[in-house]
Amino acid sequence: MQKILSCSQICVKYESTFALSNCSFELDAGNFLGVFGPNGSGKSTLLKSIAGIIKPSQGSVNFYGIKKNEIGYMAQQTAVHRDFPASVYEIVISGTLCRHKYFYFYNKNDKKLADKNLELLGIEQLKHKSFQELSAGQKQRALLARMLCAEAKMLLLDEPTNGLDIETANQLYSILKYINSQGITVIIVSHDISGVAKFCDRTLHLGEYNAGIA
Ligand code: ADP
Repeated sequence: MQKILSCSQICVKYESTFALSNCSFELDAGNFLGVFGPNGSGKSTLLKSIAGIIKPSQGSVNFYGIKKNEIGYMAQQTAVHRDFPASVYEIVISGTLCRHKYFYFYNKNDKKLADKNLELLGIEQLKHKSFQELSAGQKQRALLARMLCAEAKMLLLDEPTNGLDIETANQLYSILKYINSQGITVIIVSHDISGVAKFCDRTLHLGEYNAGIA
């Protein structure tokens, strides 16, 4: 297996308190990692450190054989994010933008990719609907389709099933497992350990002071 990520002794400090302390682990390409731990144990902080949104005060995050723009990050969804005024198609196809340096018009390949991912996520019939009108589960599917349009090789997902019922959450996990079976590395932060753990081949448990990987 090819190593894709190494986190070494990561510490993140907000003002005077450590949100994350000495977190070290490595992942191979194609792993499906579940990150678990109680509220406040630093799960979101770890994901943001990997995504490059925050810089650890100590330690390092290194990637192998993957570029920064091949990492897709989905933050915890808030009501504000979810009310973005655009159609599902506009949201999904906008994922292709990060692959191009300059502003441009969507080309045939972008449109094909958007249609392919709408179909993969089972939301092709919703493409002309307003994103705001979708259910929570449909919104997550649209955001996942957008990440796939960016041709991400690694997906970082922060509590993607928050607010979803069990059945919708399981559907989302199954889709993620399928995406993972296509060779995409997945890191998912969740409090739903019983729901997610069966889809993961690696798990990372963050505690108050230590992190341990299985
Ligand atoms: P989790 O995702 O496991 O709930 P977080 O990574 O969100 O944990 O937070 C870890 C700790 O860092 C918590 O104590 C939280 O209150 C604190 N924290 C998170 N973000 C900030 C911030 N922007 N400023 C100050 N403290 C923060």
